[in-house]
Amino acid sequence: MLRFCGILLRNMADRYELAIVGGGPAGAAAAVYAARKRLKTLFLTSEWGGQSTVSSDVQNWIGTPSISGEALAQALRAHVEAYAGEWLTVKSPALATALVPHDDHMEVTTKDGTVYSAHALLITSGAHRRKLEVPGAAEYDQKGLTYCASCDGPLYADKDVAVIGGGNAAFETALQLLAYCKTVTLFNRTDAFKADAISVSAALANPKMRVVKNSEILEVVGDKFVTGLKWKDTATGKEETLPVEGIFVEIGLIPNTGWIGDAVQKNSIGQIVVDPKTHRSSHPLIWAAGDCTDGLYHQNNIAAGDAVKALEDIYMTLRRV
Ligand SMILES: Cc1cc2nc3c(=O)[nH]c(=O)nc-3n(C[C@H](O)[C@H](O)[C@H](O)COP(=O)(O)OP(=O)(O)OC[C@H]3O[C@@H](n4cnc5c(N)ncnc54)[C@H](O)[C@@H]3O)c2cc1C
Repeated sequence: MLRFCGILLRNMADRYELAIVGGGPAGAAAAVYAARKRLKTLFLTSEWGGQSTVSSDVQNWIGTPSISGEALAQALRAHVEAYAGEWLTVKSPALATALVPHDDHMEVTTKDGTVYSAHALLITSGAHRRKLEVPGAAEYDQKGLTYCASCDGPLYADKDVAVIGGGNAAFETALQLLAYCKTVTLFNRTDAFKADAISVSAALANPKMRVVKNSEILEVVGDKFVTGLKWKDTATGKEETLPVEGIFVEIGLIPNTGWIGDAVQKNSIGQIVVDPKTHRSSHPLIWAAGDCTDGLYHQNNIAAGDAVKALEDIYMTLRRV
């Protein structure tokens, strides 16, 4: 009984006002704002920097014309850790594995079994791209094969490139690339595109655009870098290799939201549904920002800005000003 009381008292003493889960641009921005507002905050992340850490050159992080993804991750970490102390507790690596929401507080469990308690929660656990799983795809990742046109597209100016996918992200990628690439060939698995008709028409109207429907991607080929894409026509069974120097994969973004279970409303692909003005979810004490949400656009600057918006709303809610 005494032992039980001891655990209970320690948990109550460790109750934070806010827990932030995820150390990409969204989580890092929120942590800095939370500490500066003197909210007693717990920050948990499995890794630092988020998705663009693998990028060799990030050219649109405002204020820095060029920074490697790794340097950006270190800068985000240094900024957060500069505020660690009385108001901000940083735990890393710490992978959140479960969330139990209550009416007046949240319980977040991490992989090592620790249960943290906070009055409110900001989820910034981001997303990961669905990977192309064919021979050569992993080998040529970031060597001609990429998952981000706005990051890497300009490197392929005046070159022949391929886009894999048939949804909005694939067509938006194609439209960006058409501005400067020699040709853009889009490969779609079926006969019909999932993308909005307006994006499809805009892309198809460009003489540099080609489309291959009913195609199965077989292999990414290359030497030091990508030199081509091997594919099969699923209607005829014929196999071909298209010579390209760049391959842009847009076959889906998978939000890292499995760990929250059904604590909040998610859309059909697992993104957390938020109010775009406040970034509050369907639970009154849970907010979310960045790539784990149903926001239409996903970029580093957007993630950071949306997290700051969420933090302002959290502060107004917790302090009732
Ligand atoms: C290859 C690539 C290059 C890109 N380049 C650019 C670019 O040049 N410019 C640009 O603006 N955008 C770029 N993007 C998009 C950009 O990276 C994302 O929009 C941005 O990272 C989203 O930030 P976020 O903080 O919401 O999530 P993420 O960056 O996904 O970060 C999520 C963080 O949460 C942590 N995490 C995940 N699950 C858990 C958990 N259960 N418990 C604890 N921690 C967890 C992760 O370790 C990670 O640190 C790129 C994307 C990719 C894939």
